[in-house]
Amino acid sequence: MTPVDLHCHSNASDGLLPPREVTRKAAERGCQLFALTDHDDTRGLAEAADEAALHGMRFVSGVEISVSWGKHTLHIVGLGFDPAHPALKAGLAGVRAGRDARAQAMSDSLARVGLENVIAGARKYADNPEMISRTHFARYLVEIGAAKDTKSVFKRFLVRGKPGFVDHEWARLHEAIDWIRDAGGVAVLAHPGRYEMGNETLRVLLTEFKRLGGEGIEVVSGCHGAADVGRFSRLAQEFELLASVGTDYHATGEGAREPGLNGDLPIGCQPVWARWLS
Ligand code: AMP
Ligand code: MN
Ligand code: MN
Ligand code: MN
Repeated sequence: MTPVDLHCHSNASDGLLPPREVTRKAAERGCQLFALTDHDDTRGLAEAADEAALHGMRFVSGVEISVSWGKHTLHIVGLGFDPAHPALKAGLAGVRAGRDARAQAMSDSLARVGLENVIAGARKYADNPEMISRTHFARYLVEIGAAKDTKSVFKRFLVRGKPGFVDHEWARLHEAIDWIRDAGGVAVLAHPGRYEMGNETLRVLLTEFKRLGGEGIEVVSGCHGAADVGRFSRLAQEFELLASVGTDYHATGEGAREPGLNGDLPIGCQPVWARWLS
């Protein structure tokens, strides 16, 4: 295992634990280099950095930006940037600003199948009121027995073609990459294995991502199986992208991986984190 985790969530977005507790959990599992990467928000970073320092664990600033690319929603992880950079801050605030109206539209869509006022229930789970997400809806739908767990919620609701899904315009790919780079960070394509995209489309994406200044790709991710790791390792090398690793931890019990440790990168990958170890 590699004691590096460059993709984790706190309750500053849709994770369950406060930044300090996620960070402590990673440190206690033996993590040596850690990034908190909340969706569209950096407000948890100062607390996480403080906790990391208490454990002598290296900390890298992080964020996971929601992007619309054609009909696809992509997630772009930014690492090692200055969270106070004005363009990044304004960009992220703009992405968050769209979430309330989207949540209302999701709630209206669920009301049409008899699930009333789900937005009020979901809000109880959104500790950061600017960051209401599908995960908060999912937790509330489990609470009221609409499905047995969050995974089942996403099968029946909240995904394209199902009640509770609404199309949304997130940031453009070039914007997200520019915000991260202008703030001095590295842009990494998150969990490529999650995108419902054929090989051709993925290659178009990687070509455009590189051209726009993207530098890394998650090869090892909590949601990648062994075949994904092999495939994205080969693509990382072909496209000369740096390789990243991240559990994508949100909450214990909601996914397989705990934060802090990841499977090893295949030989031949260039780790994105080399610059933060020297
Ligand atoms: P949003 O940014 O509001 O669209 O919410 C996206 C989040 O929903 C992701 O970051 C995941 O945490 C969660 N999510 C999306 N799809 C699934 C799924 N199939 N199962 C569990 N969680 C999911
Ligand atoms: Mn999430
Ligand atoms: Mn993601
Ligand atoms: Mn994530």
